[in-house]
Amino acid sequence: MLNGKIAIVTGASRGIGKAIAQKLAARGATVIINYNGSEARALEVKASIKAEGGSADVYRCDVSDFSGCEAFIHHVIKTYGRIDILVNNAGITRDGLLMKMSESDFDQVISTNLKGAFNTIRFASRQMLKQRSGRIINMASVVGVSGNAGQANYAASKAGVIGLTKAAAKELASRGITVNAIAPGFIETEMTAVLPDKVKESAVSQIPLGIFGQPEDVANAAAFLASDEACYITGQVLHVDGGMVS
Ligand code: NAP
Repeated sequence: MLNGKIAIVTGASRGIGKAIAQKLAARGATVIINYNGSEARALEVKASIKAEGGSADVYRCDVSDFSGCEAFIHHVIKTYGRIDILVNNAGITRDGLLMKMSESDFDQVISTNLKGAFNTIRFASRQMLKQRSGRIINMASVVGVSGNAGQANYAASKAGVIGLTKAAAKELASRGITVNAIAPGFIETEMTAVLPDKVKESAVSQIPLGIFGQPEDVANAAAFLASDEACYITGQVLHVDGGMVS
C-alpha cells in the first residue's frame, strides 16, 4: 500500500496518466494531478479520486518549461513536505516523415517528452536525496527501443527517456531512490484514437497477445514500480506491450 505517500503524476488529465493517478490514489497515495491545457478534465480526475475516498490535488504546469517545473516541484514540497513518487507521463506526438518534419515538430516533442522528464527529476531529486528515498517512473515507449517510421522525433524522445532513466538510476541509487521506465506498446487512449484504421489493423497484427492494451495495464505496472515490492529494481525498462518488442 502507498498510504501517506505523496505522488506527482504529470499529464494526468486523461489517458494513461489519469489511470496511474487513480491507481496510486486507490492504493492510498495523495496524488498531485499535473496537466497543461485540460483543466476541466484534471478537475474531473480529482473529483473521481475524492469520490472513492482518496486524496488528490491539481496543478497546471507545462513540463517543457524549466522554471515552471521548478515552481511546481517547490509548490508540492511546500504544501506536502515531501515527494515519494514522481511519474513522468506527460507526452505528445507530432508524427511525420523525417524528410518533411518541421523543426518545431521535432523540438516540441523533445521538449515535452524528454526535457519535461529531466525538468521534474532535476528539482524533485534534490528533495528525494534529502529524504533518502523516492521512486521515479518515466514513460518511455516500445518505439524508443524499436524505432518507428513516421515517428523519428517521438522515437528519439523515448529512447532519450530510457537513457535518462538509466543515468539517473545510477546517480541516485546510493540514496535509496529507484528510477525505472515503462515502455507501453499500443494503448487505447486519445493519443492512439486519432490513428487511421489501417495503422491500427497493422499494429494489432504485430501484438502477440492479439489485443490493444488499456491505460489500466500501464497503471498496474506503475503501481508495482512505486511499491515497496519493487525496492530492488532500478534502471530497468518494463515493457507493457502484449509481447510486441522483446
Ligand atoms: P494522451 O491521452 O494524449 O494524454 C497526454 C497527457 O499529457 C494529457 O494529460 C496532457 O494534458 C499531458 N500533456 C501533454 N503535454 C503536456 C505538457 N507540455 N505539460 C504537461 N502535461 C502535458 O496520451 P496517453 O496515450 O495517455 O500517453 C501518456 C504517455 O504514455 C505519453 O508519454 C505517451 O508518449 C506514452 N505512451 C503512450 C502510448 C499509447 O499507445 N497510448 C504508447 C507508448 C507510450 P493536457 O491535455 O492538460 O495538456
